[in-house]
Amino acid sequence: MLEVKDLHVSVEDKAILKGLDLTVNAGEVHAIMGPNGAGKSTLSAVIAGKDGYEVTQGSIFFEGQDVLEMEIEERARAGMLLGFQYPIEIPGVKNIYLLKAALNAARAARGEGEVPAPEFMKLVREKSAEMKMDTSFLQRAVNEGFSGGEKKRNEILQMLVLQPKLAMLDEIDSGLDIDAMKVVAQGVNSLRSADRAILMVTHYQRLLNHIEPDRVHVLVDGRIVKSGDKDLALELEARGYDWVVEESAA
Ligand code: ADP
Ligand code: MG
Ligand code: MG
Repeated sequence: MLEVKDLHVSVEDKAILKGLDLTVNAGEVHAIMGPNGAGKSTLSAVIAGKDGYEVTQGSIFFEGQDVLEMEIEERARAGMLLGFQYPIEIPGVKNIYLLKAALNAARAARGEGEVPAPEFMKLVREKSAEMKMDTSFLQRAVNEGFSGGEKKRNEILQMLVLQPKLAMLDEIDSGLDIDAMKVVAQGVNSLRSADRAILMVTHYQRLLNHIEPDRVHVLVDGRIVKSGDKDLALELEARGYDWVVEESAA
């Protein structure tokens, strides 16, 4: 589904990604771990097409399409979605309108008409309940005054409504208490399906107790230096990152 090859990315002339390779198949959940500043957020931002990143070498293909030739909107329409791709807060724009507009854009890309209002309301109510979000959130401006945990839940709600083919989630566990993390993890688990891939950036192994990844990758200094299964995350939790760095330098 997603094939990243020898990706080099600079921000303001500073090299951040330095030859990153990653292949993600449909149906898989991949976790990207690694020390602060390694380039984890940069990777998902570049795939989604955020501004400010210069790809100096390498390629990204999504379902055979050359992603680097696609505008940010085209990428979203093709089914690649980064959580919080939308501004953190949009004063005055109700959550529910943003969700509906984004869903209709996704449907239009698939050649489908606008979602009928009753169907949309049913979908949103169902998914809000799943995320244990009171429906009053839907009537509030996007993320305005939301707590950290509420923002994360809202991010997953967006994914559950839009059902992207490739869902990219950056540190969805940061700042969550255990209960909120379980709700968020359940939401992500219900996103899992044979025709969808999930790329998760996380600092901590604890999230992976609730969302079992198919593959775990360690990103250090702009490259994936080690990959493994879920046991690698446990090993990282126990031993830190230094040994991986040393091993990759050897
Ligand atoms: P991670 O998510 O792994 O912590 P990031 O991808 O956020 O790492 O950042 C990687 C490096 O790129 C860091 O050194 C960071 O300071 C730098 N960086 C990221 N975005 C920018 C930016 N917009 N301007 C300047 N430097 C940036
Ligand atoms: Mg960072
Ligand atoms: Mg980051």
